[in-house]
Amino acid sequence: MSPFDPSKKQVVEVAQELVRKGYLMATGGNLSLRIAGQDAFAITPSNYDYMKMTPNDVCILGFDLALLEGHLKPSVESAMHGAIYQVRRDVNAIVHTHQVYASALTLIKAPIPALFDEQARFLGRSVEIIPYAPSGTGFLKSAVAKHVRNHNNAFMMQNHGALVFGHNMERAIHNVEILEKCSLAYLLAICSERNVSKIPLAVREIAFSKLRNDQKKIAKGGSVTSGE
Ligand code: 13P
Ligand code: ZN
Repeated sequence: MSPFDPSKKQVVEVAQELVRKGYLMATGGNLSLRIAGQDAFAITPSNYDYMKMTPNDVCILGFDLALLEGHLKPSVESAMHGAIYQVRRDVNAIVHTHQVYASALTLIKAPIPALFDEQARFLGRSVEIIPYAPSGTGFLKSAVAKHVRNHNNAFMMQNHGALVFGHNMERAIHNVEILEKCSLAYLLAICSERNVSKIPLAVREIAFSKLRNDQKKIAKGGSVTSGE
């Protein structure tokens, strides 16, 4: 038994749920969970079949990327996850996927403007494209660490995939689903070649301020309800 066991179990359960829902395919993507009160996180191992994964296969890393527990090579994006936890104290769960519709938008470098109320409330003002850097490199980690300071909870990495945050894992999954719905709707709207309407700016700002209030509470160690 280890104090990290509940976090490891949750990482495996969520990884397999995301495979079943079609957001994770093959061994692409990775996910992590902050270890409360410690400079450490639980993260999926690299290039490993999610459906064969057991809690024992999950890696526990310090923010210095020292392996605290685990017998497999941690995800190649571990440095990126660690950097996000250090920059964003409100983020307790990170999911990186190669989900198809968001990935398609990265190919045409199309950020998603505020299209829907729930998007602004949970993902932020817009879903930006982080410029291309090769997977698993310090270049990608640095580009991500710079972008995530804008307090949004979803990003798209050019020619790569999606990066989604939550104050807990349940919210991170929810945000993955919102992102894919927005991506598909936006792609269809773009394909129509007609004008794409956005939500009013004032509504976007009210929704975003609710998200910011939640983030400030979480960063101070408080809790939030599921949020309206
Ligand atoms: P890992 O299997 O090492 O997590 O890499 C998958 C990935 O999506 C890299 O960006
Ligand atoms: Zn990836």
